[in-house]
Amino acid sequence: MSERFELPDQARKIRDREAAHLERCATEEAARADRPPAALEAVCRVLSQRQRYMGAMGEHFSVQDLEGILVVDYLDERLLRAVLQVLQAYRERAGGGASPETAGRVQEAIDPVLRELPPYPVGYVVLYHVRRSFERFYELGRQHANGRHAELEHAFACVLLEAVERYVRTRELPVQRHFSDVEREYSSVRRLKCGCGEEKYEVALQSLHAPEGATPFDRLDLRCGRCGAKRTVTFDLPAFRDMYQL
Ligand SMILES: [Zn+2]
Repeated sequence: MSERFELPDQARKIRDREAAHLERCATEEAARADRPPAALEAVCRVLSQRQRYMGAMGEHFSVQDLEGILVVDYLDERLLRAVLQVLQAYRERAGGGASPETAGRVQEAIDPVLRELPPYPVGYVVLYHVRRSFERFYELGRQHANGRHAELEHAFACVLLEAVERYVRTRELPVQRHFSDVEREYSSVRRLKCGCGEEKYEVALQSLHAPEGATPFDRLDLRCGRCGAKRTVTFDLPAFRDMYQL
């Protein structure tokens, strides 16, 4: 019958070790995020941890094979949760949000995609737009170097918080989590590279499996559009049953 894909032990070890590192990092950085500039610096230090796990995975696995894709997606999600934790800690200390005027100016300046992310984005897409928004925000800061930096930084921290929170929520509510998991399958297939060097897998067949007492999963039978090679991949759908208990 259908064989479910299992992460190799080494990939699982790297994933768990790096996830624990991100958790420690989030706690440390949340404690430092007391003022607007410190909060944004703390977020940047958290974001820079991505290099660490990309490097750790890249030593043993390709980020274009399923192991690499699954572990990096998992850690990207943890990274975004760490960013959220830092921003929430900051927001709690800061009290209120930004003035509508300043918030509007920041909203206008940042990457438009971050304001309206697709409903079920994969973590790396969110991270990409967060980084772009930082770049655009720094440009805005250079144009408004008249002593109102802290206000702009505070507004930017609030805008980031909202965007990241929206993403994290799609990973927590069962129905959204399920649709976001399914979206992830297609995103993973798009990134998979065939042995012939092509990133051209087509989904020949998709089937849902819900074995009793085990996590439901989707099985995708793939065929390379260039060389015709076939392979089967599976993706766990842990929220599939929860969906129907609502
Ligand atoms: Zn091929």
